[in-house]
Amino acid sequence: MTVPRLLRLALLLVVVVSLALASLAIATSTNSTTVPPDPSAKPPASGPSTPGQSTPGQSTQTPLTIGGTRGVGDPYFPDYGSGGYDAVKYAVDVDFDPNDGTLTGRTVITARATARLNSFYLDLALPASKVLVNDAVATFALEGFQDLRITPSAPVKAGREFIVTVEYAGTPGSLPQPGFDESPWRTGKDEWLVAGEPEASAWWYPANDHPSDPALLDVSIRVPRTYQAISVGRLVSRDTGDEAEFDTWRWQTSQPAPTYATFLAIGHYSIREGEADGRPSFYAVSEQIAQQDRERIFVALERTPTAIRELEAFAGPYPYTEIGGIVPAIDLWFAGLETATRPVYHRGALLDEEYSDELLVHELAHMWFGDHVTLQQWNDIFTNEAFASWAHWEVVARRGDRSTDAQLDRTYRATKRDQEFWRATMIDPGKEELFNTVYVRGPMTLAALDNVMGDAAFDTLIRSWAQQKSGPRSLEDFMATAQAHTTIDLGPFFQEWLSDPDAPARTKANGFS
Ligand SMILES: [Zn+2]
Repeated sequence: MTVPRLLRLALLLVVVVSLALASLAIATSTNSTTVPPDPSAKPPASGPSTPGQSTPGQSTQTPLTIGGTRGVGDPYFPDYGSGGYDAVKYAVDVDFDPNDGTLTGRTVITARATARLNSFYLDLALPASKVLVNDAVATFALEGFQDLRITPSAPVKAGREFIVTVEYAGTPGSLPQPGFDESPWRTGKDEWLVAGEPEASAWWYPANDHPSDPALLDVSIRVPRTYQAISVGRLVSRDTGDEAEFDTWRWQTSQPAPTYATFLAIGHYSIREGEADGRPSFYAVSEQIAQQDRERIFVALERTPTAIRELEAFAGPYPYTEIGGIVPAIDLWFAGLETATRPVYHRGALLDEEYSDELLVHELAHMWFGDHVTLQQWNDIFTNEAFASWAHWEVVARRGDRSTDAQLDRTYRATKRDQEFWRATMIDPGKEELFNTVYVRGPMTLAALDNVMGDAAFDTLIRSWAQQKSGPRSLEDFMATAQAHTTIDLGPFFQEWLSDPDAPARTKANGFS
């Protein structure tokens, strides 16, 4: 994700920091972001009241001794995700009615139990009507805002693969996002988008909605045939051919991605398809954007293959098999979001010629750092945003424009006296700082680490980190991996740059030249 440019410039140049940004950082949050979603909150008014549902009792407030837990235990978002299983694939089938904003869905989840499951949870904000586990009817109940507790007719054995089918329907545009001002579901003028971080999938499909459990996605979207329906991965087909009035758009990923890095866009889009370096490309720009701007946006988007080659030069082979980008007309609170294979960009950000290159490179760098190597917990945000922001510094340096050391020096000078800026650590920035200081302190840290380790060791570290097997890694994992690539004791360096709530002194040991 990238926050809008003006606010980040304010961070660097005016050096008025956290308070201004924090209000934007977590989805233009209010003080309510400091309050986690109330676990005892009632389901939304549109919530289900369906035969087959069990009544959630007091016992649901505590993790089950045998079975899946209500969250994965994330310190910032304790309800996000679910314990007890690993999702392998989501096959999502949705039918969207533009007339009333109703989404009707049926999702088939393939998962592997990591514990014996008497019951388990999925994150789904829309009301469910039917749940099957391995083809047998299961009971279910919504707890809090989006935790769907499912009790199969027979427990799922540890280690077994199992299939969950969930049928659901509702109007996602009517659902809030507890703890946030705005929901990831956006309704524009004849245009709909669900995309957001730290969560978005619960507004359109049930999932283990946490980045520690990336999975494959196979999505079919049925819409009236004047609309386009766009998602992540490869476009397999855009019309089943058996309905005169409707088209079904089918998208498929071949590599796992975190649930927040998936999206669904419905509207009227100009589409440009092609191929670059052997990968299919798919770019889409809302037809509501004026023709002249749309052309300029396509020019910006079509720099994607070049940016990917620039990133591959140091991060190694691109981890996905498709490329692209999408620009809706709907106003977004972020400048860009790293949705897998096809980032979502804010139209104004891509039209800004001084900024669009940085934005594009940042979001595409997330394909390695965030989408392929994913977060273990949300407090590991450094491994996403520090790397994506640093990657642009590195690309600029390799173009011969400005070295990462010069970027470090310039940025350090701009921030060193700002105590408020340095107060947020990288090891545990806090929920309110999740999308804030890391964009600036993060790339400084990596540029300084490059200076301390030396180019050869640092380059090997970055490439091997980016080319790991897909899945979650923590900031502590990165620190250990870095230490394994050098004989220099990195402990004091990491203490200064990642853990201390003040500016590192300008010393050689801290990576200053
Ligand atoms: Zn980002």
